[in-house]
Amino acid sequence: MHFYIMFLMVIAFVLAVVYLAKIAVLQFEQQADSDVLRVKESYFRIIQQKDELAAEKQRLQDEADRIFTLFELTREITKTFDELEAFQSFKDYLARQLSFEDCQLVENFPEDMSDFSSFKGYKFFPLKSKRIVLGELAYKGIADQDEEIFAILAHQFALALKRIRLYKEVENMAITDSLTKLHTRRHLMERFNEEFARAKLRKSPLSFLMLDVDNFKRINDQYGHLSGDAVLREVGRLIAGYTREIDITGRYGGEEFCVILPDTDKQGAMLAAERIRTAVHDEKIRAYDAALHVSLSVGVATFPDDAQQLDELLDKADWALYRAKKQGRDRVVGFSVYGE
Ligand code: GH3
Ligand code: MG
Ligand code: MG
Repeated sequence: MHFYIMFLMVIAFVLAVVYLAKIAVLQFEQQADSDVLRVKESYFRIIQQKDELAAEKQRLQDEADRIFTLFELTREITKTFDELEAFQSFKDYLARQLSFEDCQLVENFPEDMSDFSSFKGYKFFPLKSKRIVLGELAYKGIADQDEEIFAILAHQFALALKRIRLYKEVENMAITDSLTKLHTRRHLMERFNEEFARAKLRKSPLSFLMLDVDNFKRINDQYGHLSGDAVLREVGRLIAGYTREIDITGRYGGEEFCVILPDTDKQGAMLAAERIRTAVHDEKIRAYDAALHVSLSVGVATFPDDAQQLDELLDKADWALYRAKKQGRDRVVGFSVYGE
């Protein structure tokens, strides 16, 4: 009996152990399942994040490409101060970014479009700096989805165009006398140096005229400085009008002017000077209420006859001018020899 009870107890114990072990295994399995599920979820989350990161990477790459393209375009079109060269660079870049049939720069819209029919089917993009329209891009054959990138590049080109125009304006201001619109003395001397060197190299003659308004002080005193300025403006206009395209005209200072005559010997220079002198002499210059008669004295010197160096040439033209004044003004005198 005792043995029987013992046996039952052992059986019960074994069953209990087995039961407990089963529960433990079951729990372990459940735990493992949930772990696998968690790992799976994490895995999918990581995969999703990876895709998101790849998309973000692509977006950043596209953005970097776009910025780099703009940088490259900007670098290319800011290399030049020539509008047409800048436009060509812009067009080359455009061709690398998108396909288009044609793109033209219309600077004076619509004056430049003498033949409107040749712009049939074109769209127009105004190149603006603030509110000022610098020109228009006439383009065609650009797909709708490329319009945005076209606009971005075109805007960049507009900025380059503005920079070029501004540079030209400043450059012009530096070389142009604001009153007479002739060259400033500094620019005139730069050009004089270049032309003198060229004349020496080519062994061609070059003449230099020094012109001075006669009794200008009297005009100022009698009619006032504003009238004096009007006279200078008009004399400048006449000097420019009675010289050739290749001649270089400038205001030397005050009421003194200069003309550089490349490829011109003494005889030619005397004729050119006489032409200017006569034009000023014959003109009735309007200065506000007054109509004035003004005259010029002109000194002429020529390379190589009179001088071998630039300073010497200038000095001899000045000497000849002094002689013209001495001889009674309103005349042209060519340098011959220093003396009374
Ligand atoms: P000359 O026939 O000997 O050349 O006599 P001039 O009176 O022309 O010569 P002078 O050198 O005695 O006087 C030149 C005057 O030009 C003196 C100066 O006040 C005036 N002047 C110089 N620059 C300007 C300017 O930009 N505007 C005006 N209105 N006058 C000027
Ligand atoms: Mg004078
Ligand atoms: Mg003078």
